[in-house]
Amino acid sequence: MQSRSSTEPEGLTVFEEPDLPRREKAGQKPAPEHDVEGALDRHIPGYGQRFDIQTGLLNYLGIREGLARLLRNRADGRGIALVWIDLMNLRREFSLWGWTGAEAMARRVAGALRSAVDSNALLGRVSGGSFLVAMDASKHDKDRRQKIQAIVDTLTPARSLGSQARSEVAAGVAFFPVDTDSAEELVRFASLAATRAAHAGSRAVIAFHSGMNTLVLRDHMLEVEMRRGLDLGQFTLAYQPKVALATGQILGAEALIRWNHPEWGEVAPAEFLPIAERSELIHRIFEHGLRTALEQMQRWRDIGLLLPIMAVNASAVNVRCDNFAHSVRSILAEFPLGSTELELEMTESLAFEDEELFAARMRQLKAIGVRVAIDDFGTRYTGFNVLKHLPLDAMKIDQCFIRGIDHSPGMRSLCQTIVAMARQLNLRTVAEGIEQLSELEVIREIGCDAGQGYLFQQPAPAEEFAAFFDEWPMRKRGFGFTGAPPMLEVDPLYGAA
Ligand code: C2E
Ligand code: MG
Ligand code: MG
Repeated sequence: MQSRSSTEPEGLTVFEEPDLPRREKAGQKPAPEHDVEGALDRHIPGYGQRFDIQTGLLNYLGIREGLARLLRNRADGRGIALVWIDLMNLRREFSLWGWTGAEAMARRVAGALRSAVDSNALLGRVSGGSFLVAMDASKHDKDRRQKIQAIVDTLTPARSLGSQARSEVAAGVAFFPVDTDSAEELVRFASLAATRAAHAGSRAVIAFHSGMNTLVLRDHMLEVEMRRGLDLGQFTLAYQPKVALATGQILGAEALIRWNHPEWGEVAPAEFLPIAERSELIHRIFEHGLRTALEQMQRWRDIGLLLPIMAVNASAVNVRCDNFAHSVRSILAEFPLGSTELELEMTESLAFEDEELFAARMRQLKAIGVRVAIDDFGTRYTGFNVLKHLPLDAMKIDQCFIRGIDHSPGMRSLCQTIVAMARQLNLRTVAEGIEQLSELEVIREIGCDAGQGYLFQQPAPAEEFAAFFDEWPMRKRGFGFTGAPPMLEVDPLYGAA
């Protein structure tokens, strides 16, 4: 711990207790080691400024100075592990319980950290949910690395006062002197590793490696290029048909964003969307996608290609935004299309994470009249209880349940259960990612309402989609769709517009 006597022989101690005008001498109760109010009370210039008010640990300034001094004194090159610990759900605790819950959680974690680290470790809180520990360790010492994992494990069960929520922590580690001998870089590297660890989930501990620098640079470049690409019209849409499985009618198309970079070529949405989600770019992408899709639908109408429904994807970040429904409404108003001709696909993740907000947003969208489908259903275990309160129109069963369904009785019965549940809730079901005729047959038997996948058509640019649309009356026979109901009316399963 940080404020120890200078008589301690070894270790990482860098902060020496200043020579205080001790109240103890006057017979008063000694201030506890991390009692910051006590510390502030001591009127030692600069003393209180180095400690965090809530937890009594070193604060940003304290740890910064302490670490610099520590490395300067390590002339013998003995290793130090700098562990950056992120309390990942502190923000959520704040939203749920305000100051009380969040402070209690931070204090619990600080307390658990104090007990878990060696007595000579340097310990601090750099910002709200970020804690730093500097401890003796060399990068190749397995026992010490296990010790770091053990520290992180002990923090996880800590509970907050108000909500009894589990604290969720992840940590990144950088090693002196192997990774760097600069204090500045050591903190940066540990922070980089912690960001990766947070993506890996609670209790993850990830050691820094030099590739992480490259990844950050790459993310940064992607963001810059995305911004430019949006200005220069590099983002387009590909369209994939949704087919009614009872009749073979084309119910609509899903618009999928495509980015064709002049030098890098096609960049996959899975690569650039997570980066766009960290900035305002995701809103630009959504608005661009929505406007382009509606424009295309209108253009098709003008040439007699009557597509009943256009589906556009929205990320959870879009949906969370307060003016989401408002921006959908104003973009829709730019086109002479009915609002029920638009369907928004939203992944299950938001419904799972913030049911109330998701429900509120659904109601706003319903008030406008647009359809709402839950995308990738089955990946987050959203239960019947949550779904029954949501004004949804359709449920898209994730492709991981569809792939190989013809060989897997387990998947088949799982899908059957999903379809039955959707029926109870009056939701249409759409099977995503159908690639094989044998998969289609099973999905049809199960009673799924609609299907989508490479089997029918890969997502394609507008002209190719129009050609597919023209050829479909002939091609669909190959998929067992006989009889030829007119394609142009809205399928009754989806309800009349
Ligand atoms: P999604 O909405 O679930 O879209 C389905 C994804 O599966 C698409 O990938 C599509 O190309 C692919 N797919 C369709 N049929 C098959 C098949 O038979 N087999 C296989 N293996 N894949 C198939 P894509 O275009 O790479 O998009 C990935 C995800 O990115 C989408 O998943 C969606 O969540 C997101 N996305 C795409 N466009 C947008 C957009 O404009 N805005 C937002 N926010 N997200 C988008
Ligand atoms: Mg989708
Ligand atoms: Mg999907």
